[in-house]
Amino acid sequence: MSLDVAALRRSFPIFSRQPPPFHYLDNAATGQICAAAAEALTAYETAGRANVKRGVYRLADRATSAFAEARARIARYLGAAGPEEVILTSGTTFGLNLAAHVLEERVRAGDTILISRLEHHSNIVPWQMLAKRRGARLRALDVTADGRLDLAGLDAGIDRRTRIVALTHCSNVTGAVTDLAPIAARAREVGAVLVVDGAQRVPHGPLEVTTLGCDLYALSGHKMFGATGAGALWVRGELLAELPPFLGGGEMITRVTIEETAYAPPPHRFEAGTPPIGPALAMGAAAAWLAELDWRAIAAHEKTLTARLLEGLDRLPGVRIHGPRDLEARYGVVAFEVEGVHAHDVCQILDGFGVCTRGGHHCAQPLMEAFGTVATVRASLAPYNEEADIDALLEGLERVIRILR
Ligand code: PMP
Repeated sequence: MSLDVAALRRSFPIFSRQPPPFHYLDNAATGQICAAAAEALTAYETAGRANVKRGVYRLADRATSAFAEARARIARYLGAAGPEEVILTSGTTFGLNLAAHVLEERVRAGDTILISRLEHHSNIVPWQMLAKRRGARLRALDVTADGRLDLAGLDAGIDRRTRIVALTHCSNVTGAVTDLAPIAARAREVGAVLVVDGAQRVPHGPLEVTTLGCDLYALSGHKMFGATGAGALWVRGELLAELPPFLGGGEMITRVTIEETAYAPPPHRFEAGTPPIGPALAMGAAAAWLAELDWRAIAAHEKTLTARLLEGLDRLPGVRIHGPRDLEARYGVVAFEVEGVHAHDVCQILDGFGVCTRGGHHCAQPLMEAFGTVATVRASLAPYNEEADIDALLEGLERVIRILR
């Protein structure tokens, strides 16, 4: 069955509220909120608001149950062994920083942490900070000329001093998907922990996170059609049980005296203070809604659109694509440059066509450096995109080339 894109678009309030032309191709920055998530957020904030985990009255009890159900829905979407493996966070950035703190004691002076040049800054800076705190060394795998992780450096990059390997599952610039299996195998050989940045992978369908071979997996709700402000960090149960707390405060304890604290079991130990309740409920609703979609049809649809975009860009003079051509090794995140024209100027002209794209370094400056540039344009697709979005982008680019090149 092919995808009924019109029906899918009706599940996203924005498409009936934004005046045409509206071609939203900035999904790697944030996806649009689906109706299920918007309803969950609004219902909580306007008709069901109470703090979670504390109250005994019915409203608070219902909010607490809804929060627990949101965690369970996210756990099911990820394929976690259970909801207790899922720490609710404010997003991928928070999750990766949390990871870098709770893993700190495993890193000693002279150890190494391996990342890559493909990473978003939020999967670079926390590890750099950790390496500095511990006197460890940060190493980075290279990228291939077509913007994939270069696994040729894997054996040398991971050795007996490597304590942590932190890599992206899907690049937010080139759309390249990381083959995690050989990395997980090599990390396991040396006893290193594998952290995966899943921010760009999760909008592309449910996962079986326990079979990926990683130990931690970070994600953001707003990139999987939930609200902004919520995310999750999955941690393999056996590892999670061993990890020390991160932030101290309410709700992460079982008993506090002036001298000592006994910490709550995971995941609560890692969730000090009032969590982002509404956004977490929205993320849970989005996960449950996404889990019911026909992902085979969506994957075929996204591949068709990605091919149309890549072929269209290829036909335009002076356009250079950064990223793999093999549709099996990538999602529909496409970075490109128009020779002689700054990415921001391209995006501004595209906006005149109702086309929303992003220009800049995409929080991936080491990757820009590898590409020998400072900025690219990026068009990123979601299941609700259609051929008209690609065609509007290509038409806008023809104008850019006519007037600016
Ligand atoms: N990693 C990747 C690959 C991303 O694309 C992003 C968001 N652009 C992040 C991490 C950070 O996510 P957030 O801003 O939701 O914390």
